[in-house]
Amino acid sequence: MAPAQGNYDYDLVVIGGGSAGLACAKEAVTNGARVACLDFVKPTPIGTKWGVGGTCVNVGCIPKKLMHQASLLGEAVHEAAAYGWNVDDKIKPDWSKLVSSVQNHIKSVNWVTRVDLRDKKVEYINGLGSFVDSHTLLAKLKSGERTITAQSFVIAVGGRPRYPEIPGAVEYGITSDDLFSLDHEPGKTLVVGAGYIGLECAGFLKGLGYEPTVMVRSIVLRGFDQQMAELVAASMEERGIPFLRKTVPLSVEKQEDGRLLVKYENTETGEVSEDVFDTVLWAIGRKGLVDDLNLPNAGVLVHKDKIQVDSLETTNVGHIYAVGDIIYGKPELTPVAVLAGRLLARRLFANATQRMDYADVATTVFTPLEYACVGLSEEDAIKTYGEEEVEVYHGYYKPTEFFIPQKSVRYCYVKAVAERNGQQRVYGLHYLGPSAGEVIQGFAAALKSGLTVHTLMNTVGIHPTTAEEFTRLSITKRSGLDPTPASCCS
Ligand SMILES: Cc1cc2nc3c(=O)[nH]c(=O)nc-3n(C[C@H](O)[C@H](O)[C@H](O)COP(=O)(O)OP(=O)(O)OC[C@H]3O[C@@H](n4cnc5c(N)ncnc54)[C@H](O)[C@@H]3O)c2cc1C
Repeated sequence: MAPAQGNYDYDLVVIGGGSAGLACAKEAVTNGARVACLDFVKPTPIGTKWGVGGTCVNVGCIPKKLMHQASLLGEAVHEAAAYGWNVDDKIKPDWSKLVSSVQNHIKSVNWVTRVDLRDKKVEYINGLGSFVDSHTLLAKLKSGERTITAQSFVIAVGGRPRYPEIPGAVEYGITSDDLFSLDHEPGKTLVVGAGYIGLECAGFLKGLGYEPTVMVRSIVLRGFDQQMAELVAASMEERGIPFLRKTVPLSVEKQEDGRLLVKYENTETGEVSEDVFDTVLWAIGRKGLVDDLNLPNAGVLVHKDKIQVDSLETTNVGHIYAVGDIIYGKPELTPVAVLAGRLLARRLFANATQRMDYADVATTVFTPLEYACVGLSEEDAIKTYGEEEVEVYHGYYKPTEFFIPQKSVRYCYVKAVAERNGQQRVYGLHYLGPSAGEVIQGFAAALKSGLTVHTLMNTVGIHPTTAEEFTRLSITKRSGLDPTPASCCS
């Protein structure tokens, strides 16, 4: 039974010690609140587990970016030879060394996180939280149970990868939760799913010398601009990554030699095929972790494995909030989770009023040729404003540094989706090329500040860079003119 109002153990209990929960908990104590933060990781079916910090640090952005970097470095060594470096042709990666370097970095971040929580006086509880009532939480610890009460709760439990409901999926398949600490080389890998996580994993596996195949049920990079998505896929196919389109897996069996026999079906023709892989990686989407929370005890409603909140991140129960990947219908990205968590804490404990703005959030897909964007896709702009009101400026370009190693420039492409008349406000920017995240970050600030095509075209570029291509855009799709570059420096 929860104590009378005001007699709670804490002002705030945050459930989930990932990007959103930690940011919220730390900001709340900074503003004088008594705060506890629970974090608990259930092991994957093959037993992978990790420390405090959530998905991004342990099994998401950070290990992914490090493996992407490892893959780009392998490419760079080959390019170095073209630039005159004497490089041994037979360079090859050492998977176990890579995994241990990545895991050592993650462990150092886990340790710094715990020290930071202790210094800031957030009580860290390594326990699985479930509601007893709307002010009381039961924490299941390794050493027993503990009941805690709080004035307010923030649910920041994030999500975990889904497994398909087919024979052998859980027994023999792995997910991104396992890949970054896998104790053996992945080898020939079937990546099922063509969202950004599937494509990124396939991309770095190829760069590291393995043989990924991507299985696509319907479309590539759902939710992203589809012209860009298809260019990303084509750039991966050009690098030798096969895409099995309109295909779904049927079963996974372990053969006597330990390899995995996968049967799959083409959903258009009904044709069933099979192939043998060393690893099957499910990247078919993520599920919000609502099941362990006993939300009915607190009266919080669930919507499709997620929690619906209003613009103040409040659930249907007034003193229970939710932030990060667990909320319904918002971008599942670390910087979104962090800022939303921080702003929520300031509203709760520092009389602040600022709300999270979920619009025009920039993001990057770390495929071998990276894709970054901010704002609307071409199709969303047309859906919102009508085809006649949208102008699309576009162009292919040739990164200077690609010439000497003769890297393919076929898919290096930028486009600006804009208002057709008036001020020609820019609705969306899309970039496919090297260092995409670094390129688009500054343009994201410009777009949020009301960037127009006029300003973009009157911005003097930095030469020779790839980011300057946005300032050189002049050809509209509507004109039908050839968007391939004629000249480099004039
Ligand atoms: C492979 C991969 C790559 C990614 N790459 C990027 C990227 O490049 N850029 C980017 O911005 N985002 C990326 N993301 C997304 C990013 O990781 C998430 O958006 C972010 O981690 C969400 O933070 P969160 O705090 O909402 O949830 P999480 O970080 O998932 O944290 C939730 C925590 O709560 C714990 N928990 C769950 N239930 C309970 C409970 N009942 N009691 C106690 N604890 C509980 C969980 O175990 C977890 O530790 C990536 C994700 C993946 C999987």
